[in-house]
Amino acid sequence: MPGIDLEVQRRRLTELEKELVRQIERPEDAESSVSPDNAIGRLTRMEALQAQQIGEAGKRRVKQRLFNVRKALAALDEGTYGRCFRCGDQVPAGRLEIMPEARVCVKCAGRR
Ligand SMILES: [Zn+2]
Repeated sequence: MPGIDLEVQRRRLTELEKELVRQIERPEDAESSVSPDNAIGRLTRMEALQAQQIGEAGKRRVKQRLFNVRKALAALDEGTYGRCFRCGDQVPAGRLEIMPEARVCVKCAGRR
């Protein structure tokens, strides 16, 4: 596959998987980076509610990403990595570099 080193991608995906599992198991780590100084008293009630919703949405996003990372690792094993699972086109190397777990090409990602 031109432009993309599969072993590098495998290492990045493996690291990403570990990191995402850590975030799911210990979500307080991920959140503490946002709010060490943000005393709750300074937030309005609405802001606090919004922060909570973002936290929930964030966890869902992490789980969704972990799912994609594991699919991408499976695709590496099967030799189908880097191909869009919707249309079968090659996912551009630049996209895989930014998002090693990308499973659809830009065209299909925009057409949800
Ligand atoms: Zn596609």
